[in-house]
Amino acid sequence: MKRTHTCGELTDKNEGHRVTLCGWIDRIRNLGGIEFARLRDRYGFTQVIFDPKNSKLHHKARKLSPEFCVAVRGIVRKRPEEAQRKDQETGGIEILAEELHVFSSSETPPIYINIEDRSSEDLRLKYRYLDLRKPSVREAIITRHRFTQAVREFLNGEGFVDIETPVLTKSTPEGARDFLVPSRLRPGRFYALPQSPQLFKQLLMVSGFDKYYQIAKCYRDEDLRADRQPEHTQIDIEMSFVDEEDVLALAERLMKFAFEKTTGIEVSIPFKRLTYEKAMMLFGSDKPDTRYGMEQFNMAKWFEGTSFSAIGNALERGELVRGFAAHGLASVFSRKKLDHYTERAKELGLGGLMWIKVEKDGITKSSIMKHCAEEIELLLKDVSIPPDSLILFSIGPRATLTRALGELRKKIITEELRSAEGLDFLWVTDFPMFSFDQERQRIVAEHHPFTMPNLDDFEKFASSDPLKIRARSYDLVINGTEVASGSVRIHRQDIQQKVFEILGLDQEEAQGKFGFLLEAFKYGAPPHAGIAPGLDRLLALIVGSDSIRDVIAFPKTASGSDLMTGAPSEVSEEQLRELRLRIENEKP
Ligand code: ASP
Repeated sequence: MKRTHTCGELTDKNEGHRVTLCGWIDRIRNLGGIEFARLRDRYGFTQVIFDPKNSKLHHKARKLSPEFCVAVRGIVRKRPEEAQRKDQETGGIEILAEELHVFSSSETPPIYINIEDRSSEDLRLKYRYLDLRKPSVREAIITRHRFTQAVREFLNGEGFVDIETPVLTKSTPEGARDFLVPSRLRPGRFYALPQSPQLFKQLLMVSGFDKYYQIAKCYRDEDLRADRQPEHTQIDIEMSFVDEEDVLALAERLMKFAFEKTTGIEVSIPFKRLTYEKAMMLFGSDKPDTRYGMEQFNMAKWFEGTSFSAIGNALERGELVRGFAAHGLASVFSRKKLDHYTERAKELGLGGLMWIKVEKDGITKSSIMKHCAEEIELLLKDVSIPPDSLILFSIGPRATLTRALGELRKKIITEELRSAEGLDFLWVTDFPMFSFDQERQRIVAEHHPFTMPNLDDFEKFASSDPLKIRARSYDLVINGTEVASGSVRIHRQDIQQKVFEILGLDQEEAQGKFGFLLEAFKYGAPPHAGIAPGLDRLLALIVGSDSIRDVIAFPKTASGSDLMTGAPSEVSEEQLRELRLRIENEKP
């Protein structure tokens, strides 16, 4: 029996037609002797009636259970008025079955499919192929398909060429640990899975491809955090003869096109921009969700010469007094809650947390009212703070203070505020080129070592204070999540060498690791720049999910396991022997 229609398309216009549907039994029940089955496929549901008057067929239907995969032939008929379901596409009709074929029966599934399932995520991942039968789970995957198609449509239309780059390759430099694949043919040697196609896309620019893209898998062996996957997908983009303005404008148009095509939500461009420096000063974060306001401000001027020694001494030491105001929270923040956030502030490295409340009736209270009544009065005169506002502030060295207040702001947003509406697209630009990795006690590239430094900074600080050098790099942030990063690239061998030097790679090491790129730069490398939006995170935002696992067909757990296939798994002695590998037992 070949299907003539899907389970999502029949309406009363098809009344009287003989049709064949294929799908899964979503549910089946007997009402007054009649078997009512709901048939499900990718497109929807259709009700099928097995009438006892057709006793042979009815008998067969009584053996059906949920998740049997079947074909049904029958006549479309209008449901009686009282049985019509106006909220469902096919709610006006049903199929009076004439024939039933069972393709395969089903055991009772270990997870619920036809109702919202409260099974553990582990069980759902183990039976992901069943989980994917659920309309809500399936829809996320189909949305992903629609989004990637829109991305391709846009980039193809702009003249980009989709080029595949190798998966078995050499270590690449995104700063994470590589996944290694042992070579059987050359024992003792390893391929690395690409952390991104970064070097290949730059080489494609040297080749003259000019506009490249790829929906590319990237592999990073990181200690997994809650919402990380060992493999993720990027919309990898590179362009020649451009600067940051061209890349940002292209990415904006791409986002607008793909978001609007997939979700219908209007996206207005250009997006807001903040430099890294400004983002840190205002929000204490390089990926702020700006929908909530609560911008940090410098409070020193109202406390200059204060007799309150805690603040006075800090200012003398060259520390800062900064805080932010949150509207609507004065009435919500009880003494207990203020204590709770003071504890949080201490965990974040601050000495404590001070507060000023402007209550609903305009009355002012403060943790330091006893010491600083005048200062507070002056402050409230200068800064317009509406009733029911809370100012939280503290003292400390610049970096610690801005970051800690940024963390506190984030915690308050997640713990106390209703989630804001809409999409907050924000560019953060001009990141530092380098940072100091405390753990490894050395300078590392903040983005990656192929990022073009700001050349003025580079001239000034390369030898004396490389941490002061800004990079020509940019991140796209949506609602506080980083969804893309990119940069203008170095295309000059001398600058590249110098950057390697700052990173502590001597010539020989640099040659060994990236010699092929340095070599390529000898043959007329064009200026180029690019970006790589993360597909999984974009999709999680679009479907409104907290977890990228919801938008990946076969995701891994937070510890990197695939619960369905059992990967990673042990391999046979023989495979190890072929690869000339030996597993050492963990030391006791
Ligand atoms: N390869 C970079 C990354 O994965 C993105 C880029 O610079 O284009 O973060």
